[in-house]
Amino acid sequence: MNNRRDFLKSTSLLAGSTLVLGASPLLVSASQEFGGKGKLKLRFKPYTLNLNHVFTLSTSSRSTTPVVLTEIEYHGIIGYGEASMPPYLGESHETVLKFLSKVDLSAFDDPFEMENILDYVDHLEAGNKAAKASVDIALHDLVGKIMKQPWYKIWGYDPSKTPNTSYTIGIDTPEMIRKKVKEADPYKILKVKLGRDTDKMMIETIREVTDKPLCVDINQGWKDKAFALDMAHWLHEKGVVFIEQAMPKEQVDDNAWLTEHCPVPTIGDEAVQRLEDVVKAHKVYSGINIKLMKCTGMREANKMLELGRALGMKIMIGCMTETSCAISAASQLAPMVDWADLDGALLISNDVYKGMEVVNGKVTLNDLPGLGLKKIRSY
Ligand code: MG
Repeated sequence: MNNRRDFLKSTSLLAGSTLVLGASPLLVSASQEFGGKGKLKLRFKPYTLNLNHVFTLSTSSRSTTPVVLTEIEYHGIIGYGEASMPPYLGESHETVLKFLSKVDLSAFDDPFEMENILDYVDHLEAGNKAAKASVDIALHDLVGKIMKQPWYKIWGYDPSKTPNTSYTIGIDTPEMIRKKVKEADPYKILKVKLGRDTDKMMIETIREVTDKPLCVDINQGWKDKAFALDMAHWLHEKGVVFIEQAMPKEQVDDNAWLTEHCPVPTIGDEAVQRLEDVVKAHKVYSGINIKLMKCTGMREANKMLELGRALGMKIMIGCMTETSCAISAASQLAPMVDWADLDGALLISNDVYKGMEVVNGKVTLNDLPGLGLKKIRSY
């Protein structure tokens, strides 16, 4: 199929700069290119991730995470996607499978109509954000594969600018903390989960064994602003570079007061779910933590990144425990962020894909098209 080769060649030439997909007259629509109308086919399957360690946050503990793996097929090309559902966010295997069974992509015969397709998915029902992300991620992978380009290139981002990823240390006993810090040897920055009465013990234990920079995630665990500010000063002295979601998101004035007085940047996570929350978070937090499972996927994550930067906010990209599929999807944005917390696939023992790799602590993107994935395990 010479036409197909020519098309791919022309899109390769175009893809070095930022494109507005679907808007360029130079882009032949996919349905024309593939010689007639095709249908987008969505498939999905539940899967359970096994965690290397029991993971404890200020509010819960668990050793597995339910995910749903998705595929969108178009003319024999398959895009991979994923929904990850840590239980405290309210989605489950059941809710995601129920939502995805309602998604009918057969009305669309051109995967490049990404805004139309993803608007349709978003408006099917409220909520279901991880389920929606699983469609968004698979569609991005598919379109990138058709264009034969990785998404960071389609967006025009420089892969050499990716930051180091932090490695997460959950709330634990001193013995386990020392063990985890040892395991985290290749990582240049550690993210410590705080928010219980063991906070100072955790940091002191870590400081006995390493002087690496730390960031802390309180997961809304502190309730009092004066206590939060005292802790912030103490943590600053211990080499903590930012504090994530110190107090409950509903305590807007307290969080804003802390940001105003805090010696290090504050990051909103639970308070910042979707695009509309970025404007609300401006002046309340120094920055935002963008996660694909909160914001319905790569399309909205990229918009949040651009809006946050335009507002002068710090940008962090985070994750749930996920396979390398969703992690590689989020990593496409990593060249544009201040901090990355993309260790989700490193915390599990049954990953399904090889994709973005952490090399000497740094988020390292490959040249493969779409999300840069290779399937390494059947599901
Ligand atoms: Mg967080």
